[in-house]
Amino acid sequence: MSSLHEAANRQFQRAADLIDLNPEYRKILSEPENEVIVNFPVRMDSGDLRLFRGYRIQHNNVLGPYKGGLRFHPDVDLDEVKALAAWMTFKCSLVGLPYGGAKGGVTINPMDFSERELERLVRRFTHQLGDTIGPEIDIPAPDVGTNAQMMDWIMDTYANVSGPGGRQQLRGVVTGKSVEVGGSLGREAATGQGVLYALRHWCGETGQRLSGLQVSIQGFGNVGSHFARLADREGCVIVAVADHTATLHNPDGMDIPKLFDYAREERMIKGFPGAIEVNTEDLFAFPVDAFIPAALENQITAERAETMSCRVIVEAANGPTTFDAEEILNAKGVDIIPDVLANAGGVVVSYFEWLQNQSGRAWRIDDVDTRLREIIWDANDKVVNMKAELNCTHRDAAYAVSLHRLADVYDRRGIFP
Ligand code: NAD
Repeated sequence: MSSLHEAANRQFQRAADLIDLNPEYRKILSEPENEVIVNFPVRMDSGDLRLFRGYRIQHNNVLGPYKGGLRFHPDVDLDEVKALAAWMTFKCSLVGLPYGGAKGGVTINPMDFSERELERLVRRFTHQLGDTIGPEIDIPAPDVGTNAQMMDWIMDTYANVSGPGGRQQLRGVVTGKSVEVGGSLGREAATGQGVLYALRHWCGETGQRLSGLQVSIQGFGNVGSHFARLADREGCVIVAVADHTATLHNPDGMDIPKLFDYAREERMIKGFPGAIEVNTEDLFAFPVDAFIPAALENQITAERAETMSCRVIVEAANGPTTFDAEEILNAKGVDIIPDVLANAGGVVVSYFEWLQNQSGRAWRIDDVDTRLREIIWDANDKVVNMKAELNCTHRDAAYAVSLHRLADVYDRRGIFP
């Protein structure tokens, strides 16, 4: 399989061609600014010492501090994190946040470790990153395999090794924290909520109702499960759901509140009553209105795209559609709402959390929801207008909006020195 970072670059270069982006900005944006790799020791419960490898890739900070998630997964490597960091730059620019892009991770399966081991690992990784992160420097958040508890440990470690003073603001070193320690109401569901706004916006664009849409979802973690819960509430019929343990199907629609609770309890969807288990590949072939990839990258391959029968794909995951698959889907007339737009809800509410940490004031949930909706809706409007102007796909239009903003800022700031 080709490099994910190269695939991410191909996406941005295609849009750069469309808008005739200044070649110097292209050069800068095609590589990350900083690639930090740390190897750090952690004592296991058994008494053994193990060495782990962690990454923090800082792609670009012309718009503001670097911002992006931390992933704990066995497939984490430099190439993956570089691609994910670049997507963060384009996403933050697209939705108008004062942030650049970054991503990090550790190559582990968090399920293989006890809670105590994970705490030691997170704290030691944070310490090893040192001044690489900070509320005005680079602000991590949860991604695949990480959660609010881990963000709390990062914040606590950072605050304890930083000098006295500014302890309220120091909490903004990381977002996606528990509400009790400075997290924002609405952050956990924000990415799924933003995916639903993107789907609703597409319904408006194509003149149909959200209620009654048939939907399949790949991935039932933070993003997939919250999207499912909110979409179900709006009357969508969720006919198939997959995670890493099983693919479930119920043509009449699943009982999503029950599946949500089941998955929280069991940490998987396998064994859920009220649906039949089918083969992994079946998930892609069920005829539905909307397919929501909410797991990992490169899941919609050319082979799977050939079998797909849907009208829209809303990319809740980052990089779920391969370049070849996209060409097949475009030819089939399937709309693809790209990751940089569809899953931006998480980083938007992360921004709200950071603002709350800076000001020391907590926002009410309806303020969070209203502002999230405004920002995501506005970004979707901009993309649809740009699509009409350039006569291109949603993805190219999203990149065009994003690149225009980055270019405007470079035009004004110039390139140092
Ligand atoms: P998560 O770890 O909470 O959940 C991942 C889900 O994917 C799990 O249900 C897992 O079982 C499933 N999965 C993994 N491999 C699979 C496979 N081969 N087939 C089917 N299912 C599989 O992660 P998350 O935070 O929900 O992130 C999911 C995606 O959304 C990632 O691409 C992530 O980068 C992206 N994303 C997350 C956020 C966020 O706020 N958490 C924000 C923006 C984008």
